[in-house]
Amino acid sequence: MVTSLNEDNESVTVEWIENGDTKGKEIDLESIFALNPDLAPGEESIPSPETPPLPSQTSVKVNKIPKNRRTIAPSKNDTPSRDNRAVGSTRARPGHQQPEPVPAPPPPTQMQTQSQSQSQSQLQQQNGSITDMSPPQPAKKEFGIPSRRKSNCVKEVEKLQEKRERRRLQQQELREKRAQEVDVTIPNYEIMYMIRDFRASLDYRPLTTADLIEEHRICVCVRKRPLNKKELSLKDLDVITIPSKDVVMVHEPKQKVDLTRYLENQTFRFDYAFDDSTTNEMVYRFTARPLVETIFERGMATCFAYGQTGSGKTHTMGGDFSGKNQDCSKGIYALAARDVFLMLKKPNYKKLDLQVYATFFEIYSGKVFDLLNRKAKLRVLEDGKQQVQVVGLQEREVKCTEDVLKLIEVGNSCRTSGQTSANAHSSRSHAVFQIILRRKGKMHGKFSLIDLAGNERGADTSSADRQTRLEGAEINKSLLALKECIRALGRNKPHTPFRASKLTQVLRDSFIGENSRTCMIATISPGMASCENTLNTLRYANRVKELTVDPSAVEGRPNVHAVNQLDALEAQWGVGSSPQRDDLKLLCEQNEEEVSPQLFTFHEAVSQLVEMEEQVLEDHRAVFQSIRWLEDEKVLLEMTEEVDYDVESYATQLEQILDQKIEILTELRDKVKSFRSALQEEEQASKQINPKRSRAV
Ligand code: ADP
Ligand code: MG
Repeated sequence: MVTSLNEDNESVTVEWIENGDTKGKEIDLESIFALNPDLAPGEESIPSPETPPLPSQTSVKVNKIPKNRRTIAPSKNDTPSRDNRAVGSTRARPGHQQPEPVPAPPPPTQMQTQSQSQSQSQLQQQNGSITDMSPPQPAKKEFGIPSRRKSNCVKEVEKLQEKRERRRLQQQELREKRAQEVDVTIPNYEIMYMIRDFRASLDYRPLTTADLIEEHRICVCVRKRPLNKKELSLKDLDVITIPSKDVVMVHEPKQKVDLTRYLENQTFRFDYAFDDSTTNEMVYRFTARPLVETIFERGMATCFAYGQTGSGKTHTMGGDFSGKNQDCSKGIYALAARDVFLMLKKPNYKKLDLQVYATFFEIYSGKVFDLLNRKAKLRVLEDGKQQVQVVGLQEREVKCTEDVLKLIEVGNSCRTSGQTSANAHSSRSHAVFQIILRRKGKMHGKFSLIDLAGNERGADTSSADRQTRLEGAEINKSLLALKECIRALGRNKPHTPFRASKLTQVLRDSFIGENSRTCMIATISPGMASCENTLNTLRYANRVKELTVDPSAVEGRPNVHAVNQLDALEAQWGVGSSPQRDDLKLLCEQNEEEVSPQLFTFHEAVSQLVEMEEQVLEDHRAVFQSIRWLEDEKVLLEMTEEVDYDVESYATQLEQILDQKIEILTELRDKVKSFRSALQEEEQASKQINPKRSRAV
């Protein structure tokens, strides 16, 4: 197949497929014309029967060019980058949702090219035989080569051979020169060149401010950050390409059995894809900004930053943290607040007389802490109507963007206080910043902006350290539950496992209702070292949206196998039903691929443990905060100091008090005992988890 015409050295580049790999070489036009005189310029007529064309006894394959297009002239559109030699080991594999063809097909050149499959089949039957695509010629033409032409031809071929030899030498020199230029200190320089070649063939059309902002009920997009200093110093490679406004490509280095390396290029499509040069303002414009209006229209909005630790979630939501001073005015929290105040001034909304409030809290290991109140631990309660309340959460009234910025600063310093590294803690907790609109005290709309815990932490469930395990379990569970809740939002599904995690329980009101909208920004690190985590992030984000595209594909798929297994587990465990555990069960059924029965057992054990921990703490507190106990004894002892105190009454009363105490303490002791066995069960369950299944969610 002729892939390009090279004007500068009057040659064409040809490609063919050999053993499944694309090979290529350059052939000068002169050879082609000598061997295919009917293609030569200026020869308008087909050679006369006495001087039939020379059969193409060569391995070079050039397609027959129709008469009317025979003049070979370089096209202006000809892309030099298509001159893709040595692409032998590059393979492309499409993702789930096939995007528009990337790379775009090369612009048509004056020479006609043919499809690869055609060229392959032709080349297979080739081996020195004629491969011309023209209709079969009368048999005599195949033999009737006049000697005059033949001797000319021999001369031509000799000349060509000389030239070829010369060119071969030149190319050899070039290769040697290039090899010297190759920075072999880069650990993966071969891969780097493969990616570079691949990128050269792409047609870049990044998102611009001119692009349309679409209305989505659920919007899922991806943001790639630049390589950071550390990655650059380690010479990590950027393996992510964002060629257009909605496509993300991952170039995953792979190795064949014979140790040759190749790229597996995976393509994903989202609502928007932001490359590493995109600013927060631009990300905001396409993601959270369209949701500001929702809360004025009495709706609920949520915006999540999801991804691996260090991929840019906090940078996107909270603002630029680089250096000592953080600039939270450039984060999505602040940008959204700015627009809320702008919107408030619009005549339509001004007349509603709305007040704006803000909350900022953190969910860590299933517990809620108020970031606007010195990290006070808060309780989450659910009333009979399934209304969830975070008891005592501080809601601060804000009058302008500056007020909001101050709150964000307070919350952020509270979030990271006492931590050696900001990321160490924030990667294990979800931070929720809310902007609430109220009208005469009643909720009008709410915008929740969430900087999620690092998704790789969900894989910590089999860690040797309990604290890490429990954190991991909660993160794993909450991210799975979040995915289900967003999916359900897109499908108006009746039951959703909100209660399976604190995060989804607290955000429940934002997922229900006609007028709820959500947006997820999946942040990814560009480095090769992060490739696996990046692919996990992209797969998760893809699943969140995929179902809303085609609901029938997954809805109602009976998962009999999983249900039976879970029932058996439940019987064996004797687990009583609680709303939390029912939801956990539902969640595990919905995610059977990611949640093995062992992981489910572990989650059950963790839920049990967390419930018991709460009870034990509550009882313990009740016992020792009860002042009356001490008071009673004090009074009794004081009584004995009197000269004629009633000994019998003293003994009776003391016995009563002690009986009461023993009863209460025995109850507490029993609870502690079963709490301790719950701790052991959890530890046992964690050891059973198949590590392959508990990857990051
Ligand atoms: P996460 O919150 O996901 O753990 P961070 O937001 O803290 O990650 O980002 C990690 C580092 O990368 C920070 O130093 C941050 O400043 C930097 N960073 C993240 N995203 C970008 C970006 N888009 N442009 C420049 N630097 C970024
Ligand atoms: Mg962070």
